[in-house]
Amino acid sequence: MTTAYRKIGIIGAMVEEVELLHKHVEKTGAFVKAGIEYTEGLFQGRQVVFCKSGVGKVNAAVCTQLLIEAGVDCVLFTGVAGAVAPSLNIGDIVVSTSCLQHDMDVTPLGFARGQIPYQDTWDFQADPALVELAGSVSEQLFPGRTLKGKVLSGDQFVASRDTVRALYEELNGACTEMEGASLAQVCHMNGIPYVVIRAMSDKADGSAHVNFAEFTVQASINSHAIIEGMIKQL
Ligand code: SAH
Repeated sequence: MTTAYRKIGIIGAMVEEVELLHKHVEKTGAFVKAGIEYTEGLFQGRQVVFCKSGVGKVNAAVCTQLLIEAGVDCVLFTGVAGAVAPSLNIGDIVVSTSCLQHDMDVTPLGFARGQIPYQDTWDFQADPALVELAGSVSEQLFPGRTLKGKVLSGDQFVASRDTVRALYEELNGACTEMEGASLAQVCHMNGIPYVVIRAMSDKADGSAHVNFAEFTVQASINSHAIIEGMIKQL
């Protein structure tokens, strides 16, 4: 793939998710906007800007817009999520084909669950070439443990079997997290390609809080490995 992006934006929500970027990016600059620190540098020889957005959709939306204003021409997300598709195990990878806000709910007015009223789209498609690349890098690193699918985002940590089953049955989600769909929406509004990479830290069920605490570091490492593999080929 030779898309030759000039400047690549990378977002993680939590410290664990950007720790390895801090370690491996050769820093050339930094700036602070809206209280968030953005680090500029070279990663595998490519120009990147990355940041820790903080948790939740508003944080991710603001960071995505500011990265775009800083001149990035694609946005990658690296991080962890709760598995929704029953085939997924902890540590497995989801590559977003699209992202949707599962907590957008105007159903009493007749809109579909997740639908943003009066918009042409609310299931924001990831860039097909980025999905393809992320999928093949992931498959090489973690054979048989990669699922391409819909990432569901909401301002809630999902830790219930009933909720997670509904997310699968009603919305056909692959995983659930708290940032992807806001990043995706902002990218869509700006015409910027994106893909979200998520390694499963938990299964969004009754044990999610315990698993999250135990597996977030390893899952973040898995997700970072895919970003690193992708950057070489972008
Ligand atoms: N850092 C805090 C809060 C983490 S919130 C703590 O340590 O307690 C959970 C984060 O991981 C969010 O950024 C979200 O995107 C992701 N995540 C992982 N599992 C999730 C789940 N089951 N439901 C929602 N978000 C999840």
